[in-house]
Amino acid sequence: MAYEIKVNKIPQSRIAQLDQKNIQFGRLYADHMLVAHYEDGVWGSPEIVPFENISLSPATTFMHYGQAIFEGVKAYRNAEGGVQIFRPESNWKRMNKSAERMGMPDLPEELFVEGMRKLIEVDAAWVPTEPGCSLYIRPFMIATDEFVGVRPATKFTFMIITSPAAAYYSKPVSIYVQDEFVRAFPGGIGMTKAAGNYGACMYPAQQIQKMGYDQILWTDGFEHKYVQEIGTMNVFFVIGDKVITPDLNAGTILAGVTRDSVITLLKEKGVTVEERPISIDEIEAAYKNGSLKEAFGTGTAASVAPIGKLTFHTDVMQLRPVEEWETMNWIKTTLDDIRYGRKADNHNWVLKV
Ligand code: PMP
Repeated sequence: MAYEIKVNKIPQSRIAQLDQKNIQFGRLYADHMLVAHYEDGVWGSPEIVPFENISLSPATTFMHYGQAIFEGVKAYRNAEGGVQIFRPESNWKRMNKSAERMGMPDLPEELFVEGMRKLIEVDAAWVPTEPGCSLYIRPFMIATDEFVGVRPATKFTFMIITSPAAAYYSKPVSIYVQDEFVRAFPGGIGMTKAAGNYGACMYPAQQIQKMGYDQILWTDGFEHKYVQEIGTMNVFFVIGDKVITPDLNAGTILAGVTRDSVITLLKEKGVTVEERPISIDEIEAAYKNGSLKEAFGTGTAASVAPIGKLTFHTDVMQLRPVEEWETMNWIKTTLDDIRYGRKADNHNWVLKV
């Protein structure tokens, strides 16, 4: 053990503020957070301390130049009443890919995964017991040089905070296919969880929300027709007896942990899954000839979310009732069964706290 994780506990837990029947996402944070600092080329030992405000110089570099990355993970209450985290190693690997592209330091696995495990152990009481609920885990890293000159930073802070999350009611989402604004180009940062990726999506999101849509399905920046991903979800289409999802080769799409889990489980079931470019023309043609059976998004927050309606310009594709969607319903149940420990974890995806 290279790091000794010091724990400084809160004098009085705030757990009484948690109303499990009425959880509002992101409003309440658990008692503790993990903090580690990077300086002179090394990470210092992480500390678990009471969740509290942090004090930073207004010249702190991430606030100006956006060297800021994050992850999203969840801990679940399992069938025995214990707590388990879903695929934290995958998030650790992705965090380091984001870090590399953003000129930020690598995080040792121990700091990310063991730090997270220890934090969740300390705040285990915050993992809801109500069905379908979870504890959302938000690791993030920011550049903390006190310097407004533009240059890659040398000081960084890594933190993990957590927040209880309610059961996600997967009501079908209404999606607008965006071919004016572009989220990501090859060679850019589309495949990272860099803060700027999300900042750049706020204005287009506001515009389509005013029009009554829930989220955007992004298309490529050259031909404006190959679909990429949806807001904070990867996208899948069931066409005929195949499942199709955009491939990751262009580096424009976040490699979702849920996406990878869905592909793995479907392939094991014997379903043909194609990871390849898929255009909005192909999706429209499949809709028109009746072979577009299902369309859904996947992500840590929503798990699996059906797309009820897909709009491209003035064409509205209205999908059939979700109850009839065999593939999506099977994958959602199977994934949730593994996450909540109701089904054997044959892939070593679950980290027991
Ligand atoms: N795409 C984007 C842009 C996202 O922010 C997310 C959420 N992390 C996803 C896809 C889904 O990724 P995951 O399954 O790892 O949550």
